[in-house]
Amino acid sequence: MFYIPTPERCDNCGLSFKKAHGTPMFDAATKRGPWGCFCEDCYKQVRKFDDLGVGKGQRYERRDDGRFWITEGAAGLDVKDA
Ligand SMILES: [Zn+2]
Repeated sequence: MFYIPTPERCDNCGLSFKKAHGTPMFDAATKRGPWGCFCEDCYKQVRKFDDLGVGKGQRYERRDDGRFWITEGAAGLDVKDA
């Protein structure tokens, strides 16, 4: 599952995900209320929940084509394919 539209920058510090290729992106609920897309450092500062999951937050990794693929926090990701 890709994050659409692809986020360009961290909503908190403005870090360019393109320049920081390899940095994971977190789409997460914040203490202030609204969700946002954050770099890992900001995610740890602004997150409302300490863990990832549905209604809390998801972790994405940037692929070579620039799109973000979900790696943690969504329903069904823990299910192993037979
Ligand atoms: Zn940031």
